[in-house]
Amino acid sequence: GEAPAVLPEAIAEKLRNHPCYSEEAHHHFARMHVAVAPACNVQCHYCNRKFDCANESRPGVVSERLSPEEALRKVLAVAAELPQLAVVGVAGPGDPLANPERTFRTLALVRAAAPDLRLCVSTNGLALPDHVDELRAAGVDHVTVTINMVDPEVGARIHPWIVHGGRRLEGRAAAEVLSGRQLEGVRRAVAAGMLVKVNSVLVPGVNDRHLVEVNRAVRGLGAFVHNVMPLISDPAHGTHYGLTGQRGPTAEELEAVQRACEGDARVMRHCRQCRADAVGLLGQDRSQEFTLARLPPGP
Ligand code: SF4
Ligand code: SF4
Repeated sequence: GEAPAVLPEAIAEKLRNHPCYSEEAHHHFARMHVAVAPACNVQCHYCNRKFDCANESRPGVVSERLSPEEALRKVLAVAAELPQLAVVGVAGPGDPLANPERTFRTLALVRAAAPDLRLCVSTNGLALPDHVDELRAAGVDHVTVTINMVDPEVGARIHPWIVHGGRRLEGRAAAEVLSGRQLEGVRRAVAAGMLVKVNSVLVPGVNDRHLVEVNRAVRGLGAFVHNVMPLISDPAHGTHYGLTGQRGPTAEELEAVQRACEGDARVMRHCRQCRADAVGLLGQDRSQEFTLARLPPGP
């Protein structure tokens, strides 16, 4: 159905100072990502494992990997310098929920030391159904799930394999499991009261016509925003689509898909595809000011 004109207070409250959910807030509030999650349980054709998870980041970016304790030191150093800091997210460099111990330890440390900061996690969704309760208990109220398809035929062209339940699945079978888990994860996260953002990577000729269907599905499950992002193809930095040099969409193609989706859900247009160790206001990258070597010594 249509979005109600007035948001329930509980949702409005969650939106208020999260720069990624509100165009308003993104001018005033800062976010940071802590890169504590190296492993991934999915393979995306557009991902070169040497770089940050391409579901959230632009290609060619290598974040400094942190232990949970180092991540906490960094959060506290950034919070001391940047009073607008409102959100701490775990977004990579792999999939946060494929590294549950590191991710949940980080969330717990940050929560205990800085309870006013909002916590946010981005995931490919494969492990999401198993972790919704734990995320909620950890105080996470914003979850981003990257969903590029709801049709396994399309999925097989984007995700060649997954590892699930200790088994490696390929092709259509992999895409079927991935899609089912993603949608179930969104459904459960929404039911648990979280604000869910869905990212889709637009791959021309593969899912461009299909994303309207993805939009309808995730909207139906209660996702709050849908963020259609361009595939950024940059062979110089090692991002190849299926190693065949698939191009990214033109600005017009991206605009057309965003417009086609708009009738059905809020579409985010201000995502900056930040690095897994991004620091600052959106559009600002202060990550290099807060590398480990520059942090004050820990306790
Ligand atoms: Fe790479 Fe992210 Fe896809 Fe994993 S989920 S393969 S890290 S783009
Ligand atoms: Fe926000 Fe997009 Fe950056 Fe994530 S990648 S922190 S959604 S602007």
